[in-house]
Amino acid sequence: MHEHRFVFGGLPSRVVFGAGSLQDLGQEVESLGATRALVLATPNQEALAQDVSLRLGSRSVGVYAQAIMHVPIDSVTRALEEVRRCGADCLLAAGGGSTIGLAKAIALESGLPIVAIPTTYAGSEMTSIYGITEAARKRTGKDARVLPRTVIYDVNLTLSLPVSVSVTSAMNAVAHAAEGLYAQHSNPVISMMAEQGIEAIARAIPALYRDPLDVGARSFAQYGAWLCGAVLGNVGMALHHKLCHVLGGSFNLPHAEVHSVVLPHALAFNSNAAPSSMEQIADSLGVSYAPAGMFDMATRHGAPSGLKDIGMRESDLDLAADLVVSQPYWNPRPVGVGQRDEIRTLLQHAFNGVRPEAMAEGFAPGRGGSA
Ligand code: NAD
Repeated sequence: MHEHRFVFGGLPSRVVFGAGSLQDLGQEVESLGATRALVLATPNQEALAQDVSLRLGSRSVGVYAQAIMHVPIDSVTRALEEVRRCGADCLLAAGGGSTIGLAKAIALESGLPIVAIPTTYAGSEMTSIYGITEAARKRTGKDARVLPRTVIYDVNLTLSLPVSVSVTSAMNAVAHAAEGLYAQHSNPVISMMAEQGIEAIARAIPALYRDPLDVGARSFAQYGAWLCGAVLGNVGMALHHKLCHVLGGSFNLPHAEVHSVVLPHALAFNSNAAPSSMEQIADSLGVSYAPAGMFDMATRHGAPSGLKDIGMRESDLDLAADLVVSQPYWNPRPVGVGQRDEIRTLLQHAFNGVRPEAMAEGFAPGRGGSA
């Protein structure tokens, strides 16, 4: 047994969770002392933003439905002009990671508080991580100012999320929890949340796949997304998130799908280096080998299996491998220029959509089997 030693920073956001919780919005904005909220959304969620604005009544200064995936710097500049023009004192982000990402970029400059109303499972609402894309490169950073002050999880707003997006978005969530379990500075509270998060998502995916309007299944998915988002917000990530950052950022692949495709392969790569975390992940999934369990959870519910299916070109895999090893970062199994060939092999497996088998990566003898 090893001695516990950790730092736990707490979970500073206020979370209001439950079907119909959007009706508490006015009260929540009021308790922040805000009187001039600007409601942000993507163009295709403008109707939701208008509804949110109506609910706020005189506390809303309007809707700005111009959020764009990956937060291009120009979109931030335009949004900041709108914030100044209408004298907003609070940002209301109704949508997924793209909308919350725009709110964060505005908050970084203006210091305005954010109320997030997430409608996907990506988890951005629980983190102080921001990303802004400039000249085709996504610059990310951490700043306490961008952490939403209040998060309203209303399951009713997720019912319209298409099944295919729901499954990959839930895989995006579960990836935070999986990497959180072998994080360099993990702690027991966050590890508990990670295990619960994986369990909730593993329960939710098959059920919402069968019936996307099953509020119970959606509620489990959202509960899991909250837990997994909190893991992302509290402990550092590793190889999987690095791979997804490179593939999404440099090759413009869709965010949630990339997470879904890459996760089994990143876990297979790390499985020998983090055996007890791998066992926790497998137990939470109810399988014997975590990488194959993740692969099955995604592909049995309609998610794409390979990078080849989501727009990656095989000829770009070499460059992707170079980028992944070009800067050092923490991972349970070291990743640097010396591991370039292994990373290239991992990417080939992810490209082809091969189901990781326990033997393929030399998983601990005796564990055997697959999912
Ligand atoms: P998204 O926000 O881009 O949403 C995808 C599309 O689905 C959008 O057009 C959106 O309007 C629509 N949509 C969202 N919810 C819907 C619903 N309930 N019904 C119908 N349509 C809906 O996707 P995402 O996966 O949530 O976010 C991805 C972005 O978030 C990426 O840029 C990623 O880097 C970022 N992200 C950041 C963090 C962080 O901590 N900073 C964490 C996770 C993701």
